[in-house]
Amino acid sequence: MPVFNFNAGPAKIPTEVFTELRQQLVDFNGTGLSLLEMSHRSDCYQQLHHEVLAALRRLLALPDDFAILLLGGGATLQFAMIPLNFLNAGQTAEYLLSGSWAVKAWQDAQKIGQTTLPFDGRQHHFTSLPATITVDPEAAYLHLTSNETIDGLQWPELPDCPIALFADMSSDIMSRRLDWGKIKLAYAGAQKNLGCAGVTVVILAKDLLDRCQETLPAYLNYRNHVRQNSLYNTPPVSAIQLLALQLNWIEKQGGVDAMAALSERKSSLLYQTIDNSGGFYSNLIDSRVRSQMNVIFQLQNNDMEKKFLQQSAAAGFVGLQGHRSKGGVRASLYNAVDVAATTELVRFMQDFQRRQGG
Ligand SMILES: *Cc1c(COP(=O)(O)O)cnc(C)c1O
Repeated sequence: MPVFNFNAGPAKIPTEVFTELRQQLVDFNGTGLSLLEMSHRSDCYQQLHHEVLAALRRLLALPDDFAILLLGGGATLQFAMIPLNFLNAGQTAEYLLSGSWAVKAWQDAQKIGQTTLPFDGRQHHFTSLPATITVDPEAAYLHLTSNETIDGLQWPELPDCPIALFADMSSDIMSRRLDWGKIKLAYAGAQKNLGCAGVTVVILAKDLLDRCQETLPAYLNYRNHVRQNSLYNTPPVSAIQLLALQLNWIEKQGGVDAMAALSERKSSLLYQTIDNSGGFYSNLIDSRVRSQMNVIFQLQNNDMEKKFLQQSAAAGFVGLQGHRSKGGVRASLYNAVDVAATTELVRFMQDFQRRQGG
């Protein structure tokens, strides 16, 4: 039976990527060695490392005045590293509470320094985002989460901001074009749109580096990683190997513009199905800010929802259960999820509704 993977993260990886990984896993480029058993200082690894950095720069159309880092610790480590590096005593950092992940980033920042909240979406259970925001021009930075993986909303475009904008892009990086003129720092764990868990891509404007706190332990200081080109210590080589293959795959599909067109198409298919169901399925997010990556929806009651999840699982759909904190249904439509799988899900949703007499 075919399996349709809609996992929220770690998430689907293209079949072609696994085919190539299998070939090179025990014999990397004819060396007779696996990448997993050679020095990260070897020419062989160095070449891969620099190819990945170049591919990221090319695909993201990243200007030269930004550095790219490949770090461990997940996006979660960035929740701490950002304020440790950039939130000095006496300063304030601003956080936009768009959803569950933004709250986590803010909670860590509060342990390190002063914060304020120009927007607090908890008041309406994370169902909308502001059209405009007002920030303190003296603040150290503004942090936002470009796509809320759990709550199913996404900034349709990044807000204009008079201070440095830092963005957690873990669940929508490389799914749409970015205006680097608006961003000073962006980060993303690889396991949603780029590959597997273990490596986090951090992109930062080089002019931020003067602000990094010199008193920090070595690994926590961005400046050390930039100076050493992310080879300060042993990088997560296996995750970087997979990242290389998946970036290559994205490039072959047509790059970011192709991924953006697919995201638009896949998410429209699902939102149309929900909106045309006469209330059988519902999504309560302000339609302007619905996520193209994580489509969440509810059924009319818990029993119906349970039935939907059981029957969809039996039909080969994986990962549709909403986050444990939230319930409901969630279909994650990352880069590796194809239109065919999405169309299968639409067909299942329509059949299910018919069978329930909805
Ligand atoms: C998954 C996710 C994280 C957490 O990533 P880890 O790599 O597990 O630390 C943070 N932010 C967002 C938006 C996410 O989707």
